[in-house]
Amino acid sequence: MASENPYPQDQLDERRRELLAERQSLIGQVEGLDAEADVKNWREGGFDDDPADAGSASFERETAQSLSNHARRLLSQIDDALRRMDAGTYGTCERCGNEIEPARLEALPYATLCMDCKRRDETGR
Ligand SMILES: [Zn+2]
Repeated sequence: MASENPYPQDQLDERRRELLAERQSLIGQVEGLDAEADVKNWREGGFDDDPADAGSASFERETAQSLSNHARRLLSQIDDALRRMDAGTYGTCERCGNEIEPARLEALPYATLCMDCKRRDETGR
């Protein structure tokens, strides 16, 4: 039931707007980075006698690819958060089922763990 969602509706709407805006900007970034990685790929093929050029082109391509991968991971976390909003489970810790601190969601709208579980995660227990 939607009324069981621990997160207030007006704040939920605000988080959703933020997530959608960030999603839009990440999609733009991914497209740009993928294009950049492609361009580098093409250019690298064009340089056949200068290893230094080829090396730096390949480094830049790898950087673009790793940034693109990072943006994609964020995108899937954002999609997850939007799904949880639709399912009415947004704002609930995936591990312990407690409410995720509202301040934490404001800072990280796609957080899936409460502060305690996150801390336990980071310390490894
Ligand atoms: Zn928790």
